Amino acid sequence: MQSGDDLTARFDEAKRQFEELTAKVLINDEKMRASQQRELRLLQAEGLEALLSEMIVGLKVSYGLQYVSVVLCDPDHDIRHLLQASGATVESFGHLIMVESLTGMAPQYIALRQPWLGAYAACDHQLLFPSSTGLASVAMIPLSRRQKLIGSINLGSADAARFTGDFAVDFLAHLGVIASFCVENAINRARLLRSGFTDFLTGWYNRRYLQVRVNEELARARRDNSHLVCLMLDVDHFKRVNDSWGHAAGDAVLQELAIRIESQVRASDVAARYGGEEFVILLPNTDNESGKRLAERVRKAIAASPVDLPNGDTVSMTASIGIASVQPDPEANDLKILGDSLIARADVALYRAKSDGRDQVAIDES
Ligand code: GH3
Ligand code: MG
Ligand code: MG
Repeated sequence: MQSGDDLTARFDEAKRQFEELTAKVLINDEKMRASQQRELRLLQAEGLEALLSEMIVGLKVSYGLQYVSVVLCDPDHDIRHLLQASGATVESFGHLIMVESLTGMAPQYIALRQPWLGAYAACDHQLLFPSSTGLASVAMIPLSRRQKLIGSINLGSADAARFTGDFAVDFLAHLGVIASFCVENAINRARLLRSGFTDFLTGWYNRRYLQVRVNEELARARRDNSHLVCLMLDVDHFKRVNDSWGHAAGDAVLQELAIRIESQVRASDVAARYGGEEFVILLPNTDNESGKRLAERVRKAIAASPVDLPNGDTVSMTASIGIASVQPDPEANDLKILGDSLIARADVALYRAKSDGRDQVAIDES
């Protein structure tokens, strides 16, 4: 026979266990909701830049961590170029680490298929968390593309008990799958966007890109109270190349001329193929005089030596260049009109260079 006290004790124990279980379920429920929120924010990120920032800053805040970094293997500088094209740089992300190879970054990369959790060890993990202090435990969530490991999201905590074997690894594994999918998707989208802005023949930006970029440069010039100079270049008598040697030879000449022009252009300038044998160069923060000097250098680089044709012939080429500049009024609000007029004025100057005998530079005087 059980005493009443026994029964009460057993009932209390069952009640305690039930409450503990309920609390666990609630905590898990809460964890699941938080985890879904994090994944949703990654999925909703617009573009590569926003995604990386959501991974680095967003996860740090959401998990309440000391340090979050993202390592990405980018041997062909693909991701770097895509970020650059969108106006961002690797440096601007702080804890984004781009490497040519994962070898030597951390021993865990050798077999990182599932999230790795464990104690922070400076000798193993310091490259994942540069200049960190006070980290005690670490989670490395693998990122992969087409079944290949391309890096990881690295979570660093000052709490030694935070990332241990007890932590719900499946939540992190799921996050890793979603994050990998988002990275892949963002890279592909950025590529597609860029290809829509790139000229196939020369690899230069195209007219569509220029139209977007001229607005950005005008906004910058308005903010900095600086000049924006526009060079419009048209190859002289280009039709003769096509007529004498055919279209393929014409293409080869355009490619060579693009290389010659590019050799004179600074990294901060924006060069675009505007049309068939027309090129535009935007020179931010420059005045007409420096613009004219650059235009003269470009003109000379084109005329310097004959261009080799695929059939072994050579052909001497020249180009005419028109220059216009603008210093946007701080009150200017229609940058589209301002951009169109800048390009139109450079075109008028170019027309004058042509009618004055070609192989020369003319400055817009309006
Ligand atoms: P001008 O000195 O007055 O500029 O004479 P031009 O012959 O250069 O001018 P025009 O505009 O009459 O001819 C440009 C030619 O460029 C016509 C067009 O067939 C050719 N063209 C345009 N795009 C391409 C291209 O991508 N490849 C080749 N091969 N030819 C092209
Ligand atoms: Mg033309
Ligand atoms: Mg021409």
